Amino acid sequence: ALPVSERPTRALVDLDRIAGNLRAIREHVKVPVMAIVKANAYGHGLVPVARHLQSVGVEHLGVAFPEEGIALRRAGITVPILVLGGVFAPQVAQYIAHDLQITVSSLEKLHQVEATAEAMGRRATVHLKIDTGMQRIGVHAWSAGPFIEAAVASRWIDLAGIFSHLACADEPDSPMTALQLERFDEACAHFTRIGAPMPPRHIANSGGVLHFPEARLDMVRPGIMLYGVLPGAACRPTVALEPAMSLVSRVVYFKVVEAGYPVSYGATWAPPRDTRVVTVPIGYGDGYPRALSSRGSVLIHGRRFPIVGRVCMDQFMVDIGDHSAWNEDEVVLIGHQDGAELRAEQVAEAAGMIPYEVLVGLNDRIPRVYR
Ligand code: PLP
Repeated sequence: ALPVSERPTRALVDLDRIAGNLRAIREHVKVPVMAIVKANAYGHGLVPVARHLQSVGVEHLGVAFPEEGIALRRAGITVPILVLGGVFAPQVAQYIAHDLQITVSSLEKLHQVEATAEAMGRRATVHLKIDTGMQRIGVHAWSAGPFIEAAVASRWIDLAGIFSHLACADEPDSPMTALQLERFDEACAHFTRIGAPMPPRHIANSGGVLHFPEARLDMVRPGIMLYGVLPGAACRPTVALEPAMSLVSRVVYFKVVEAGYPVSYGATWAPPRDTRVVTVPIGYGDGYPRALSSRGSVLIHGRRFPIVGRVCMDQFMVDIGDHSAWNEDEVVLIGHQDGAELRAEQVAEAAGMIPYEVLVGLNDRIPRVYR
């Protein structure tokens, strides 16, 4: 890790807002929540976010791969953790040793988990993954019968859930979600058919929570909305959410650029008239998207100004016209300033990205400051 940072570029993370978003989601869905904290808690910091969520009583956490879960266990997180990604046979023992719940996505993998559990003399806790239309991992809904029966019959498996994933829930009008729910229902009905107890069923990501009440089932799995960001442009804020992260920096250089003199790599942009340009010390080396070159904007003194020329690895330039700004003045890249707001969704749109990429892309060169 880098030394304790005085860097003017930083991400301010408000953990109480994440807790507030969790509360709002709970009130909306009225079922337990598995908070998704993979990918460094969508850029907000895996361990600090998980600790805070645990302190406010989150029921469950979800991560992508076992290393993320092990980091949480080493940090003293005791709530159930499901590893959402498909299990890789050589890692099964690690899951069991660290009390991580396993996503089992085929009969073959179920047998691998069983064999390792038996060899260790410890039962494995698993969630069965059903593919209802995403075509990523999971047993197809129409052939789930033998898979479910094998899991139910196993002495070495504790069944803690059955789940699937929605492909189009961020498009409220897509018919795909109803189809996926129908297929999931059909797969789960097999438990009733064979007289086995139904484990907790879960399928709803943020889009599901926002737009599909019938997708709530026994638990929901929100990720991006916990951080106060909407998953897609067609989403409506049916739950009151507050963005948890601000990304700020400060002016590090000021100059006048004469008309026709190009700015930054490739000399792709030049001002049509003499103008004032400031330099901001953050770039694509921090995960700030290079796609914002001459397309993004920032807030200075509560006003929006355009990024001009190419975003460099560690710096970029902003055209402030005839406005005055001074070295050390605050620059807001995501967040509020003097009544103005620049949201992660807007940054993503300007970059031709999705908000997930913007948040997750911010890397560990940027100090996280918690409040
Ligand atoms: N569940 C699974 C299996 C996922 O892969 C993800 C994230 O991609 C989520 C839930 C959370 O999704 P979202 O951030 O859209 O709420």
